[in-house]
Amino acid sequence: MNISIFGTGYVGLVTGACLANLGHQVLCIDIDASKIKQLAVGKVPFYEPGLSELVAKNREKGRLSFTTDLQEGVRFGEAIFNCVGTPSKEDGAADLSYVFSVAENVAKFAEGSKLLINKSTVPPGTAKSCLEIIRKINPGSEVEVVSNPEFLREGSAIRAFDYPDKIVIGTKSDKAFQIMKKIYSGRLRTYLPIVETDWETAELIKYANNTFLATKISFINEIANICDRIGADVKIVSLALGLDYRISPRFLNPGIGYGGSCFPKDVKAIVNTSKQHNYQARLFEEVIALNERQKQVIIDKIERVYNGNLSGKTFCILGLSFKPKTDDMREAPSIYIIEQLLERGANLRVFDPQALTEAKKIFGDQVSYCGSPEQAAEQSSGIIILTEWDDFRNLNLAKLRQSMVDNKLFDGRNIYEPELVREEGFEYYGMGRN
Ligand code: NAD
Repeated sequence: MNISIFGTGYVGLVTGACLANLGHQVLCIDIDASKIKQLAVGKVPFYEPGLSELVAKNREKGRLSFTTDLQEGVRFGEAIFNCVGTPSKEDGAADLSYVFSVAENVAKFAEGSKLLINKSTVPPGTAKSCLEIIRKINPGSEVEVVSNPEFLREGSAIRAFDYPDKIVIGTKSDKAFQIMKKIYSGRLRTYLPIVETDWETAELIKYANNTFLATKISFINEIANICDRIGADVKIVSLALGLDYRISPRFLNPGIGYGGSCFPKDVKAIVNTSKQHNYQARLFEEVIALNERQKQVIIDKIERVYNGNLSGKTFCILGLSFKPKTDDMREAPSIYIIEQLLERGANLRVFDPQALTEAKKIFGDQVSYCGSPEQAAEQSSGIIILTEWDDFRNLNLAKLRQSMVDNKLFDGRNIYEPELVREEGFEYYGMGRN
């Protein structure tokens, strides 16, 4: 099938490359000419494991191409995926201007029957609004709108496409549903839980999904904060909790707060949508507040250890991206934490396996960028782990210690066993375990 993908970010490019890999002819469209220029010569503008190879393979096979031409993009696809961004507005509402602009282009340029498939995360009511836009601009349009929210996880996005937990398809049209099944049929060889529902339910499922996970993280962060005060070990509490099959061990690791391009904006958006429907979603408001507070917890710990004086101290920061296996710095807790440490007069030597280029756009020359954990540790008083990259799990701590001027390790992601760290000559400070 001919498929157009609007938006070549994390979702659009992964979807485009994976659909091409299933054998579809895919044209990816973006308004960002510099991104398309890079992609047209085979350069993927961000880091996602396996994506460069997949893009290269499908470009070579002639199944994947790129353009900035919006009209060509609309004309090409029988199915048009809307994968553009939906960032937060000032009041927390999702900014739908990019989503609606794609709907407008579809209304202007589409000929014959086509599907506009909303994959971006959008509040309930958006698919309806897209159809209204199309009907208003082009009353005779045969375009149908489908809600098909995306659940991929950055860092394992290709695997998430190949082995999805679920595919949610929101439409009342049987014809549209059949086309959607055809699009994904390469993945339907084995049983796949397809959830077929209406637009609004499909749209809400995505918000409910992310808000639940964000709440789970805030829940275990609260337990960790209590552990810190009573001297309990959160790792064991979390392990025991996870053994209850109704809870599951995933997303039960305390840390420095959730970040990324999805959880923060999606929890804000569901609170905002609720407000618009005269409902105060108090639990989710609290999740937002708790997550902000959690970023401060590690700063407070560090300040306590140094009696409130960080001025002139040098710290080694390991990990900047909001989670491992991505270079995505959007809403990364590291941003707040680094800003706070700088404000207190600390000098920072930072390392991340993939996110240094993105980090430079945010921190400029305020920090020193290093090529390895060893280099970042040189002359530092303490190591602060902010992202749980596998690269940091087996550091030669004894060797790092030799080039440091003091021996503190602040483990913002609880990746180390306190006893082992102490054996290497460090003082250990975890989140809910010491
Ligand atoms: P992104 O910011 O990485 O990419 C969005 C792209 O859309 C940009 O390249 C932008 O230039 C392009 N764009 C904007 N307006 C356009 C237009 N009119 N025509 C063509 N291109 C246009 O965003 P993302 O992370 O890929 O997220 C996209 C959507 O998917 C968001 O709603 C997000 O919440 C949702 N989502 C993201 C993830 C994730 O892990 N990143 C997972 C699931 C769902």
